[in-house]
Amino acid sequence: MTPENVQARPFDNTVRLSACPVCDANDIAPSVEKSGYCFSRCPHCDFLFVNPRPPQAWLNSLYASPVKEAEPTYNKAGSRLRRAYFKLPRFFPYAWRKDAVDVGCGGGFVAHALSLVAHSSTGIDISANAIAYARHRFSRPRFICANFAGLPNDIGEFDFVYSSEVIEHVSDVNQYMRALNKLTRDGGHVYITTPDLGHPKVPAQIEHWDVFQPPIHVQFFNRRTVTVLFERYGFRIVKFYKNRKPGLIFLAMKAYG
Ligand SMILES: [Zn+2]
Repeated sequence: MTPENVQARPFDNTVRLSACPVCDANDIAPSVEKSGYCFSRCPHCDFLFVNPRPPQAWLNSLYASPVKEAEPTYNKAGSRLRRAYFKLPRFFPYAWRKDAVDVGCGGGFVAHALSLVAHSSTGIDISANAIAYARHRFSRPRFICANFAGLPNDIGEFDFVYSSEVIEHVSDVNQYMRALNKLTRDGGHVYITTPDLGHPKVPAQIEHWDVFQPPIHVQFFNRRTVTVLFERYGFRIVKFYKNRKPGLIFLAMKAYG
């Protein structure tokens, strides 16, 4: 390794995982490498993850852009809002007159759409800039700037938890699951989207997949992986939605008690 590479990543000395963080199997194997990030793959649950793991604080810093002094803006705001409205019928059975939360809400488009049908709507995001935009643009939801480890104790529980394209970003998938578990009321539903490692449109050479971008995305799942992971935290997968694009979209319910 050249001296330039030594300082490229601040976490080379962090502990390399020897077991799968999803199913605890201890025969994970080295897999692909991209941009200097090495992935391990679990032969049992198919989890594919950067190993050694970047620290969460370092990943957080990728999203910690300073709040702009001028009015914050959001890329493609119009189409984001239209897509959020378009999704509402799918959420309706689980969110109507219920307490809803968007975990990783960005500019607040889905949290706003949910606020039109839910009893209450909350948006949580790590980016202060995104939360500033959301608060400026949408008055109905409550917006909270926090990370998974720093959720307010009094944040409450929710009947419908929406979290789109978040789980592939987090360093510790178990910390994310603990946060989901804490936020979801017994009998409540979670709606998750993430890239689908098992989709037929994923390139055979996975490093050519457009979303295969460490350190932005540090792990990948297929149906089996998320089934094992969510069952471990007391959720039952209710359904996987059909998707022509290589994205997993699924609904899970938290068991009672
Ligand atoms: Zn595993």
